[in-house]
Amino acid sequence: MAESIRTQLESDGVSLLVGTAVDYAGGIHCKGVPIRRLPEFQDAGMGASPSWNVFCADNGIAFTSSIGAVGDLRLRLDAARVRKVDDGLAWGPATFHEQDRTLSPLCPRGRLAAVVDSLTERGLSPLMGTELEFVLTTRDGGHLPKPGWTAYGMGAVSDRRGFLVDLTATLEAAGLGPEQIHAEYGEDQFEVSLAPAPPVEMADGCVLARILIGIVAARHGMAASFSPLPWTDGAGNGAHLHLSLHRDTTPLFGGSLGPHGITPEGGSAIGGILAGLDHFLGVYAGSVLSAQRLQPGRWSGAAACWGLENREAAVRFVAATAGNPHGANVELKVVDPSANIYLAAAALVGSALHGIDAGLPLPAEVPGNPADADDWPATAIDADQATILEKLEASDLAGKTLGPDIVEGIVAVRRHEAAKFAGKDPAETAQALRFAWSA
Ligand code: GLU
Ligand code: MG
Repeated sequence: MAESIRTQLESDGVSLLVGTAVDYAGGIHCKGVPIRRLPEFQDAGMGASPSWNVFCADNGIAFTSSIGAVGDLRLRLDAARVRKVDDGLAWGPATFHEQDRTLSPLCPRGRLAAVVDSLTERGLSPLMGTELEFVLTTRDGGHLPKPGWTAYGMGAVSDRRGFLVDLTATLEAAGLGPEQIHAEYGEDQFEVSLAPAPPVEMADGCVLARILIGIVAARHGMAASFSPLPWTDGAGNGAHLHLSLHRDTTPLFGGSLGPHGITPEGGSAIGGILAGLDHFLGVYAGSVLSAQRLQPGRWSGAAACWGLENREAAVRFVAATAGNPHGANVELKVVDPSANIYLAAAALVGSALHGIDAGLPLPAEVPGNPADADDWPATAIDADQATILEKLEASDLAGKTLGPDIVEGIVAVRRHEAAKFAGKDPAETAQALRFAWSA
């Protein structure tokens, strides 16, 4: 199979093939080979230090008890997912293996696949969709000149139509099938949403989409920031994750007698996702900039509750209706683009499974703005970085879901950021990290 993929890409004019891996701080890294070496990239893999996993947003390295300067992993290409992304350039996702070909316990992509397997073994199939919010800037990271900005505005689309038309065609050609593309609320902020797919495919698609958005932005003389907070006085970027679950062909979030059609197992999954926030916020929104985005009033879901179409709830429930052909699903809004998408997906799916296994009840629905509810601030999320990292570090659920080495690594890269930017003006930190999550 590798040979036929190589031959096809060569006839499409591809010379350089890159395989990507995402570190625990959310940065995207790659190794490249001439296209003739695709079979070796898939089979033996290319060498990469284990420290690739603990590269930090500022390009520091946060070594841990299991990740030091010694050792070598093999970064092996998933050849079936390789796509041509630009003239002469092809991309594919890669996984970390040991020298003996076993999967490395440090590998985020491998971990997500393992968590998905544990659902499949119980007869459950997850599908996930993602939304990519980003802010366009000048090539050197400044504000774009523009006559004005209207949220979700047609003017913004007209103004940037060259970029948006090129982006749409590029995403379609790469087989990503974007669902929607629109101007967002924040100035120069746009969003692309991707159709539901199995979780590993969704995460791969998110990486590829980020690469393509960067390439097309550069083609049009701009850059794209995927920072949770590109500017301290502007809108934040989210990386919302949608999840639907089926047992055989039966959906868990619709078609039943429960509230909005939610089945008892679906209710337990939502209970698990909400209970999991206390364990996994350091995975979903753990960067030094994340807490400033994860605040009430920013539609980032800064309240630990759920509600139908509730954009201030951490879990927005999307019901199965004639207007929603994909069927019922839940949207986890707290996730931002500094998260490692594979690990965020593993945490989400793993906490839903935990809720189902433990038979957790569906918590009471919060129908309005949680900040207006009588019990506020009982549901308010404390997004403080030091607090959420302590909770992640102490969590048995996180250790079980992601493995202790990965949890230790996530905590290490985030504490490195905290120490590096301690006492700095937040605007300076936002500037230093504006492109840390771009590709
Ligand atoms: N930009 C918001 C965030 O940081 C989300 C806005 C929306 O609901 O699309 O999550
Ligand atoms: Mg949005």
